[in-house]
Amino acid sequence: MRLGDVEAGLECAVAARRLWSKLDDAAELARIKAIEAFLLLDIGLSDDAFDMASLAVAAAESGNDASALAFALNAKGVTLAVCRQVSMAVPLLERSTALAASAGNAGLHAFGLLNLGFCYAKRAEEAEAAQDTPATTLWLDRAIRITDEAISAAEACGDLWTLRVALGNCAEYNALNGDVGAAMQHLERSAALPGEGGASLRIHYLYTLATARLRSGDLTGALEAAQQSLALADETGQVDHQLNAAAQLGRVHEALGQFELALALQKRFHALYVRQSGETTQRLAKAAELRAETSQLRARASALAAEALLDALTGMPNRRSFERMVEDLSGSDYALAIFDLDHFKAVNDQYSHLVGDDVLRRVSRTLGAHVADLGFAARLGGEEFVVILPRHDTQDAIAIVEDLRLALHDIDWSDIAPGLRTTASIGLCSTAEARRHDEIMVRADQRLYAAKHGGRNRTVWGEADHRRHAG
Ligand code: GH3
Ligand code: MG
Ligand code: MG
Repeated sequence: MRLGDVEAGLECAVAARRLWSKLDDAAELARIKAIEAFLLLDIGLSDDAFDMASLAVAAAESGNDASALAFALNAKGVTLAVCRQVSMAVPLLERSTALAASAGNAGLHAFGLLNLGFCYAKRAEEAEAAQDTPATTLWLDRAIRITDEAISAAEACGDLWTLRVALGNCAEYNALNGDVGAAMQHLERSAALPGEGGASLRIHYLYTLATARLRSGDLTGALEAAQQSLALADETGQVDHQLNAAAQLGRVHEALGQFELALALQKRFHALYVRQSGETTQRLAKAAELRAETSQLRARASALAAEALLDALTGMPNRRSFERMVEDLSGSDYALAIFDLDHFKAVNDQYSHLVGDDVLRRVSRTLGAHVADLGFAARLGGEEFVVILPRHDTQDAIAIVEDLRLALHDIDWSDIAPGLRTTASIGLCSTAEARRHDEIMVRADQRLYAAKHGGRNRTVWGEADHRRHAG
């Protein structure tokens, strides 16, 4: 857990949980469930983490080990904070910290203070989102004060891991609070600690260093730290780290006036963002498989595997289902159309990514509803969709695809984004022109490109047939 090797951690935790439950040891069972909750949280399974932490608290309450209860409460508090239930998290963490202190468990006390600080920082985040500057400063001050206490407590009991995390967090809160001097001091103390804290902590350290340097106007230094942070994140291959590091480096390039580089990183950020939402389903399936110890959990794992054929954001068939569909169709006739939404980036920029996500969901519902029995629709990725129409001849397919184009054009967005218009550019090709699927895809894609260049909101099909529909 501390090294961030979640899969190895989960495997051990599951095995340990089975053993402790055979031995019927409530305190150890509570502890291992709390650890499992922290691990689940680390891979983004916050609902599962919350359930596990609640089980940990229940187990601890059935025994009489104050430290176990303190640790379980800690896990439940942190999962609540991550699930944006910060006001419920604070009393749990306060109780956890008090219990750990009265039980004389110094390490756990330090860990409790660290997480209480994290909670206060979350409150500051909420206040900032509500543009409440005084509250933001208030909660950041509290977060800094309590994390400083965690630092002293961890130092006193020699818990290097908690100390390293607390120094990094406190540096981050200070940087956010505009106190670059204090942030740098904490970072220097962290760098001077013996040993290594693992990749996650190192990435966080570099990230915070870049933030502090950026705020102090040391752009060259910020660039160096941000580049190192992204390189290390790429090495770990963890999308969450890569996402933050890419956004960070983008901001540094922007501050340096290197807009092309900033734009490239912004694009990378979006690509990673898309990948992250797709990976969540796979993570769920993997974790459920690992924890499938009862038939009930096994059933859930297979349900999730089926979901892996569905796109995580829209719930419509994904690229994998599309590829299966094409395999099933090999040898028979079909028409295929690739849809790409027009100026979709502007939707995100103007209305936010959340609205962008809503638009994708509604577009996918519209496509699905219109295609219905006629064929098959899938999301290829990003704002690209594909429709397959088996057995339809080209003229027939053109008419159907044109109906779809108009249906997208006519979607009513007044409830989520008044003034919004969505149109799509479409490239169409069928087995009448090419037998091989990859050839059909290439042609459809070239025609999609032609549709964009021809002014968007239109369908382009066969070269020989020069008619083009425009909106
Ligand atoms: P064009 O008319 O040339 O297609 O312009 P465009 O802006 O649609 O083209 P581009 O391919 O540059 O931008 C696609 C954008 O789609 C980039 C990315 O921000 C956004 N995007 C991709 N996937 C998602 C997603 O899952 N959610 C949201 N909100 N945006 C996404
Ligand atoms: Mg596109
Ligand atoms: Mg587009």
